[in-house]
Amino acid sequence: MNHLFFRTYNLITRTSCYKNVILQSKVLFANRPEQKKLRKNLISKGENQCIICERKFPLCLLDAAHIKPRMILTTLEKKNIYNVEFMCKCCHSLFDNGLVSIYKGEIHISNDLEQYDFFDITRKERKIYNNQNSLYFDFHYHNIYKK
Ligand SMILES: [Zn+2]
Repeated sequence: MNHLFFRTYNLITRTSCYKNVILQSKVLFANRPEQKKLRKNLISKGENQCIICERKFPLCLLDAAHIKPRMILTTLEKKNIYNVEFMCKCCHSLFDNGLVSIYKGEIHISNDLEQYDFFDITRKERKIYNNQNSLYFDFHYHNIYKK
């Protein structure tokens, strides 16, 4: 993980963090009525941790990220708490672009990221993978992840 990147990013966002959260929330919740409940559920766990890089972040830098993309979910799936997990903004973007994935409890990093300094993966196991969310992670790995 590039620590300098996160230190700089945190410094830039610290002062406007609260205002950004309010603005982002208003826009997001208007378009996605279920999103508030899904985010509240993640906050209630009290971990404030990205499931990909496993670093702790302030809430304003954590997205309630869909594992299987929201645009292809049924109405019932959109409300499923097991398809949404906290990801930091950097990892969320990597995940949505298929550059990282979690499959059978292990993190997978695309070869496309080899030239960058995002991850120092010494421990591949990710505890978040379980029977309730495995079908969503498996979908991501087989359909979106760029091996
Ligand atoms: Zn992360």
